[in-house]
Amino acid sequence: MGGSFLLFSYLLSVFASLPSFTVVKADSDLTRPSFTPINRDLYHSSDDLIEQIKSLVHRHPDKLTVETIKAGNKGYTSEITVVTYCQSRKETDDKSKFRILLSFGQHGRELITSELALRILSILSEEQFLPKMDRASLNGTLENVVIKVVPMENLNGRKLVEAGNLCERRNGRGVDLNRNWSVDWGKKEKDYDPYEENPGIAPFSEPETQIMRKIAISFDPHIWVNVHSGMEALFMPYDHKNRTPDGLPSQRMRLLLEELNNVHCHKRCMIGSGGGSVGYLAHGTATDYMHDVVRVPMSFTFEIYGDNTATLKDCFKMFNPVDHTTFKRVLNDWSAAFFTIFKLGPHQIDVHSKAAVSSMDKWVSIDEYFDGYLMGRRNRYGKKMEVLEVGMQEIRTYFRLFLLSSVLLLFMFCSRISKTGRQIVSAIPI
Ligand SMILES: [Zn+2]
Repeated sequence: MGGSFLLFSYLLSVFASLPSFTVVKADSDLTRPSFTPINRDLYHSSDDLIEQIKSLVHRHPDKLTVETIKAGNKGYTSEITVVTYCQSRKETDDKSKFRILLSFGQHGRELITSELALRILSILSEEQFLPKMDRASLNGTLENVVIKVVPMENLNGRKLVEAGNLCERRNGRGVDLNRNWSVDWGKKEKDYDPYEENPGIAPFSEPETQIMRKIAISFDPHIWVNVHSGMEALFMPYDHKNRTPDGLPSQRMRLLLEELNNVHCHKRCMIGSGGGSVGYLAHGTATDYMHDVVRVPMSFTFEIYGDNTATLKDCFKMFNPVDHTTFKRVLNDWSAAFFTIFKLGPHQIDVHSKAAVSSMDKWVSIDEYFDGYLMGRRNRYGKKMEVLEVGMQEIRTYFRLFLLSSVLLLFMFCSRISKTGRQIVSAIPI
């Protein structure tokens, strides 16, 4: 609505300001707007896309389940739809399965990524097929995996884009959801642009990031992929340093990315650490958190499409294919890439090694477990969300005080025992 009004005013003002031009000249200028609008023939609206996904799940209750998680604070609320694929629904929580977590649409303007999520889910449900896919071997592969798909992480930001703000990447209150995580949070580079990279008032200040963290910690995936657009690249950690991590897991990540680049990206994709390859360091990103804190053995950020010929303000064209052929090509190439991951991933990592890493090596702070716990309660009692959010800080403080007093009591108790002990010991020799 707003868009058509703007266009009307624009036409009116151009018409009024060009009285000396011939009609033909004015026409030729008017047919070329300065930016490309969303191609509604190719792209779903956010509501329609979520609706399509929900009805897809409805048609395949044996393999797919869907949940909507809501959270909010300070009068701002958000919701995230999560679809879980498992060949046998009863085994969704089976921790001996290989677990993959994929997120799409973290940045509002990158519409193509959510279309890819729908395509992947359609193939998983066997309503659509990959051109060269051997269904029998694929079914064998998928037998031992659980895949969680977040098709549209940033619904509120996406709504702003659909309302005409085509360059918006942040959430519904101006925070970049890929700068709101706790690893190296809030550090600003010299070329920091608040319009693009506002990290929020604190790590995990945003409900969307809180929900994603909760999903990641409870699901504890072996593979994480954060799907974006703007260029063609396959990134691994780190985003906040210009190097990749050391050791064997890092080499495994790189090998998988090289395979994907050769087979599906026609060797066009940039490979390496996000920070080292993209030309700037990014602080507080999801992928660095998944790698450093959740200890996901393979943590990636994929950039699936970019048009560097688009002008600066022509964001729809810069981040999304605008013609049918390219649209189809991007969805085909990248859905095939994801099915290669589903196939190769479980061979790269021993499922049980992750369990060992989780129990011995992984460290998630009390706050993080606590937030996860509260989030769970919030989902169950949706209406109490605000109250719980306000109460969260106090509960945390009480919990810390409780821990501190327990330690003090224990200390006093121990020192009393040792005094008693000393008396007994000193009594013996005499
Ligand atoms: Zn992005």
